Amino acid sequence: MSLALLSACNGTPADDSAAESETGETGGEQLEGLDPENFLEGGLDGAITEVQCTLSNGETTTCYSIPIAGAPANHDVGPFCPRTIDDGPEAVGIWLDSGEVFDVDGAFIVGLAEYYMDDVWQLYDPDTGEVYVTDSQDSCEAAAKPDVEEEYNNHCVECSLDYYGGGVSDTVLIPQVPVARETPGEIDGVNSVGVALNGVTLDPPAPVDAILAAHTIAAFDDCGGHVNPVAGYHYHAATGCHAEVPAEDHAPLIGYVSDGYGIYAMSDEYGVEPDDLDECRGHSDESRGYHYHAASPGENMFIGCFHGEVVDDGEGGGGGGGGGMDILDCADVPEGAPCCGDGLCDGAETAANCAEDCA
Ligand SMILES: [Zn+2]
Ligand SMILES: [Zn+2]
Repeated sequence: MSLALLSACNGTPADDSAAESETGETGGEQLEGLDPENFLEGGLDGAITEVQCTLSNGETTTCYSIPIAGAPANHDVGPFCPRTIDDGPEAVGIWLDSGEVFDVDGAFIVGLAEYYMDDVWQLYDPDTGEVYVTDSQDSCEAAAKPDVEEEYNNHCVECSLDYYGGGVSDTVLIPQVPVARETPGEIDGVNSVGVALNGVTLDPPAPVDAILAAHTIAAFDDCGGHVNPVAGYHYHAATGCHAEVPAEDHAPLIGYVSDGYGIYAMSDEYGVEPDDLDECRGHSDESRGYHYHAASPGENMFIGCFHGEVVDDGEGGGGGGGGGMDILDCADVPEGAPCCGDGLCDGAETAANCAEDCA
C-alpha cells in the first residue's frame, strides 16, 4: 500500500506556541500526535490542513482538519446480508455480539431463534429460504436506525453506499498535539471515536440492544463496517482491513483517536496483546508515548474511554457532512439533510425534526 504524501502544513513548521500544550509524560520531543503522511490518499477528499479548534476543556488549539472521502481507500464495501439460507460464509459479512464474531450466513440466520432463545426471530421465508433483507434505499433508511420501523422487524439490515453517491464525505478534526485529561473522557453514542488510516471513521459501539430488540441484524462486512444514511460507511470493529503502518515488535498503527493519540492493532506480529493497558485501552512506551490498542472485534468497540481532550462538539468548526466528530449546528444543515444532535445518529433525520434535535 502506498502512503499519501500530503502537504498539510503549507510549508509552515509547527513550532508555534500552540504546540506547547502538555504532551503527556514524554516531555521534550513530540512522540505523540497525528502524522498526516500516514493516511492513504484515496481515503481523503483533499489535503489535510491545520485549523483553529476548541477542545472540550475550553482550550483553543490547532487541529488537523481531515477531509474524509466516505469510502475506504483500500478495500471494497460489503457483502453484508445473505440472500438465501443456503448462502455460505464467503457470500456474507459478520455480526458481533458478546465478544464473538459470527458469519451472517444462512446457518446463522436459521439459528437466530435458538441462539437468542426467542421464537419471534424469523429472518427468512420458511417456504423459499429467502432471507428478508432491506435491499432498497427506503427500507434501509426505515431500518438502519435505533427505532426500526415495525414493518422491517425480522430483517437483515443493510444499506448500499450507492444510495449516498458512493460515500458520505465529512471533515474530522483532531488536535495536533494531544492534551491529556485528568480523568478519562466518556465515549458518547454519537460522535466517532477516531479515524482509520484509510479514511473510514471508527465509530462508537453499535446499538446492539436496540437492533436485537427489533429482531434485526445490522450486518457488518468482514472489515467490521457497515453503511447508515447519516455516517455512510463506518467501522465498529478492527478486523485487519485498515491500512497499517508497520512497527517492529509492536502492533501496527491503524488510525488516530479523536483526542490525537494513535490507535494500534490489538496485537503485534506474534499475536501478543499488551498486558498493561489502562481502562481506555492505552499505555505508554518510549518510542510512541501514550497510545491505544484496539479491542478485539467481538467487543463492538475500539477503546474504552478518551485519555485526552477531544474537539468540543458544539463549536468544532470546519463544517462537516454529519456523522463525524462534529454535531451539526442547525444553522449549517441544508434543508432535507440529516441532522445529528439527539444521539439517534443511525437514522435519517429530517429538516422537520432538526430544530428539535439541535436545540
Ligand atoms: Zn453503525
Ligand atoms: Zn503499545
